[in-house]
Amino acid sequence: MRFAIQSRNDPQSNELMERAINYLTNFGLVVDEERPEIVLSIGGDGTLLHAFHRYTHMLSEVAFVGIHTGHLGFYADWKPSEIEKLVISIAKDEFKVIEYPLLEVTINYQNSEECYTYLALNESTVKSPEVTLVMDVELNGRPFERFRGDGLCISTPSGSTAYNKALGGAILHPSLQAFQLTEMASINNRVFRTVGSSLVLPAHHKCILKPVKAEDFTVTVDHVQLLHKNVKSIQYRVAKEKIRFARFKAFPFWQRVHESFIDSDLKE
Ligand code: NAD
Repeated sequence: MRFAIQSRNDPQSNELMERAINYLTNFGLVVDEERPEIVLSIGGDGTLLHAFHRYTHMLSEVAFVGIHTGHLGFYADWKPSEIEKLVISIAKDEFKVIEYPLLEVTINYQNSEECYTYLALNESTVKSPEVTLVMDVELNGRPFERFRGDGLCISTPSGSTAYNKALGGAILHPSLQAFQLTEMASINNRVFRTVGSSLVLPAHHKCILKPVKAEDFTVTVDHVQLLHKNVKSIQYRVAKEKIRFARFKAFPFWQRVHESFIDSDLKE
C-alpha cells in the first residue's frame, strides 16, 4: 500500500512522522507523496485540513487518518502512544472507509465567463473589506433575505463543530448530506431583517449569495483566505466529491462531541 504523511512540522509531530515511516516501510508499505492510498496527518485538525487540500484532486483514491500531537481533535483522534497499533492495522488492512460530505463553493465574476470552484471540508465564510457585509441570499433560485452584518458562514456537517459552532450554529452528524448557513452578527431592527436562525439545507438545494453594492469580498475556504474582486455571485451546495476517512475503531461522533466540549472523562 502507498502512503503519505502530513506533519504539523513541530518537533514532536516530525519525530512521530519518522517513527511512522520506519514502522510502515518495515511492514512493506511504500512512501508515495504523489499517489498515496492512505494519508496520515500528524498534528491537529488544522494539519488534516492541509492534508485534505493537498489531495483534493484525488479524493476518491485517498483515505485520511489523523493523529493528534496536541489535544484531541475532530479529525485527529489517535494518540501518539497508539502509533504502533495504528501501523499494524494499516499494514493488515484492518480498517473500513467512511465517507462524509463536502461543500462545493463556486465564485463567479462580473464581466467574465471564468469561475473558480473550491471544496471545503469545514466551511467557507464570506466577509467584506467594508465594515458591513451586504448580500442577497437566494435559496434554490428564489430571493430569501438581504443579509447585513459581519459575514456568513456556510459549513459542512463535519465543520459544524468548528467555526459554525462558535457562531451558535447547530452541530450536525457528519454523515448527513447537508450544509448549513449561519449568520455572523446580523443587523436586525425595524428596517433590516434576517431570519436569525441557522439554516440546514439538503443535498439537492443551492444557496447563492449576490453582492448588493460592493463587489470585493474576503472568502475563506477552511484555513485559506483570499480577497476576490468583482464578484458576481457565490454558489454553495453539497459537493459530488466526498472525504474518505480510514476508521479502525469505533469512536461515536457524539462521544467525541462530549469529550471535546463537555467533559474529557466520559463516565460510562
Ligand atoms: P487551527 O488549526 O488552529 O483551528 C482552530 C481550532 O479549530 C482548533 O482548535 C481546531 O482543533 C478546531 N477545529 C478545526 N476543525 C474542527 C472541526 N471540524 N471540529 C471542531 N473543531 C475544529 O486553525 P486553522 O488551521 O486556521 O483552521 C482553520 C479552521 O479554524 C477553520 O476551518 C475554522 O473552522 C476554524 N476557525 C474557528 C474560529 C472560531 O471558532 N471562532 C474562527 C476562525 C476559524
